[in-house]
Amino acid sequence: MAPAPLIVVSGPSGVGKSTVVAAALAQDSSVWLSVSATTRAPREGEKDGVNYFFVSTEHFESMIEAGEFLEWAEFAGNRYGTPRGPVQERRSAGIPVILEIELQGARQVRLSDPTARLVFLAPPSWEVLEARLTGRGTESPESVQARLDAARLELAAQGEFDDVVVNADVLESARALLDFLHG
Ligand code: 5GP
Repeated sequence: MAPAPLIVVSGPSGVGKSTVVAAALAQDSSVWLSVSATTRAPREGEKDGVNYFFVSTEHFESMIEAGEFLEWAEFAGNRYGTPRGPVQERRSAGIPVILEIELQGARQVRLSDPTARLVFLAPPSWEVLEARLTGRGTESPESVQARLDAARLELAAQGEFDDVVVNADVLESARALLDFLHG
């Protein structure tokens, strides 16, 4: 039996990926969102094993060496990666999986699994993205700048994706995601 679908949700930091994916999961509990490992420090309210597995750089490197990542990338000064095992287990059990990752990771998934569907979440405008990123208040000015720099590159690459959803309305974007997943 073919594994259940894999949907990659990508797009610049601050575009609202987490909010849209959370809204999609609230509408459809049959879908599983992968939990990434990261070397970034937890933000206030983030929980280990829920939002991310927060690991040391050494631990992250040992996971790379052990081939434990489906994909991984460095982003705005930290590393992020998708543990391979849990994704494979869910998909083999017929459970569709969502990855919420940045551009370099999305490209790696595209290469390793051509059946994955890549969705790019775009902001309604550059100004909206900038306002969301700076207004979030969770990042240092350096991190905001690194994320804005990355955003320019990510926006320029949206043509590589199977679908582009402009995130003007969270519920509509979530519905579009679920349509891709089930369509
Ligand atoms: P944040 O620090 O804001 O949580 O995440 C920064 C960026 O890393 C976001 O674009 C987020 O989607 C992405 N990201 C989160 N987990 C992963 C992962 O496992 N792999 C990759 N490549 N990117 C990730």
